[in-house]
Amino acid sequence: MKTIEEIRADFPILSRKVYNRPLVYFDNGATTQKPLCVLDAVREVYTEYNGNVHRGVHIMSDLTSEAYENAREKVRSFINAGKREEIIFTSGTTGSINSVAFSYGERFVKPGDEIILSTLEHHANIVPWQMMCERKGASIRVIPVNDRGEILLDDFLKLLSPRTRLVAITQVSNALGTIVPVKEITDAAHSAGVPVLVDGAQGIQHDVVDVSSLDCDFYAFSGHKIYGPTGIGVLYGKEKWLTELPPWQGGGDMVDKVTFEKTTYNELPFKFEAGTTNYAGAIGLAKALDYVLGIGMQYIAGREKMLLAYATEKLSEISRLKIYGDSANKIAIISFLIDNVHQYDTGMVLDKLGIAVRTGTHCAQPVMQRFGIDGTVRASMCFYNTTGEIDALCSGIEEVIRMFS
Ligand code: PMP
Repeated sequence: MKTIEEIRADFPILSRKVYNRPLVYFDNGATTQKPLCVLDAVREVYTEYNGNVHRGVHIMSDLTSEAYENAREKVRSFINAGKREEIIFTSGTTGSINSVAFSYGERFVKPGDEIILSTLEHHANIVPWQMMCERKGASIRVIPVNDRGEILLDDFLKLLSPRTRLVAITQVSNALGTIVPVKEITDAAHSAGVPVLVDGAQGIQHDVVDVSSLDCDFYAFSGHKIYGPTGIGVLYGKEKWLTELPPWQGGGDMVDKVTFEKTTYNELPFKFEAGTTNYAGAIGLAKALDYVLGIGMQYIAGREKMLLAYATEKLSEISRLKIYGDSANKIAIISFLIDNVHQYDTGMVLDKLGIAVRTGTHCAQPVMQRFGIDGTVRASMCFYNTTGEIDALCSGIEEVIRMFS
């Protein structure tokens, strides 16, 4: 078992200084930092064996294709999907959701149909569905949340109807940190014969994810939020759906036979991977998954729980500070406002103290509207953060309060 010092040493960026102060990185919800082994894995692709995947008879293409397919297998086992054919590499969560919204909409949605989302959704799990609904004459229904930022399950059940074509729901709110009971939602939706897409952008990196026991129909996540490279993501889809859905893009590698009269498509998963994919990113992502498995997902979940408890206690002691989202079941995200201080001012002062937090609506404007605010300051922590960094955040906030009082 590595010590926290050893873990932090795996991430070169964590030891840099900003404005001559140690960097305190609390914007892990936006993107996570990368361990050296991930950077090395990507570098190795380009220094040792780079060749386009599934294209050549030469050894470089073979080696890259093998590493790419091994990466697919790594993702499959990481989320416990049944088959490697069910793992599609995409550009990220946004790419994955847009793709399903397009293809599922083309194949299954007709005028009058409904898609159920929740108030907690990131814009990436709202806008693609709105675009599809506009094309298809369908509409969106929204599950409300209570004052703690928790989904109201009874209201969800009331929204399910014969018109419901799909439920698309986040596993964890990026704005408040709420963990959503996606298993209960999936079971209820399935009882009504409705498939479920889970946006795992904030779920994949904090605890064990098992799509087989979750039984969701689609699961989307981004590599860069789980210590992997940017520009790579995953769409898991049950084989029965992926077989039925039309491809969302046409191009090289996704075809079987092409004539000007007719094209037949490649088998899964290649049918959904048109063109040259981000194979170096996929190989880097596989290394990131190896890295977190080495640390241990249970260890990560436990350490982040400890950080959340510590941060909640310390921040609650600051009288002018209000925390938004206090579900008993949340990840290590604290969204807050300081009385009479705009969130941008707080963020800018903290930045100058070397503390990186996110400010604004967090690409989740509807949940901000629900709480009647135009944004928050968000400290999103992960396992490489420390209680000392939380103390630094608290001192920084005291400084903000002094400056603006
Ligand atoms: N969904 C949620 C819940 C997110 O937090 C994010 C990223 N903030 C996304 C979707 C979109 O992820 P990406 O930008 O990596 O596609």
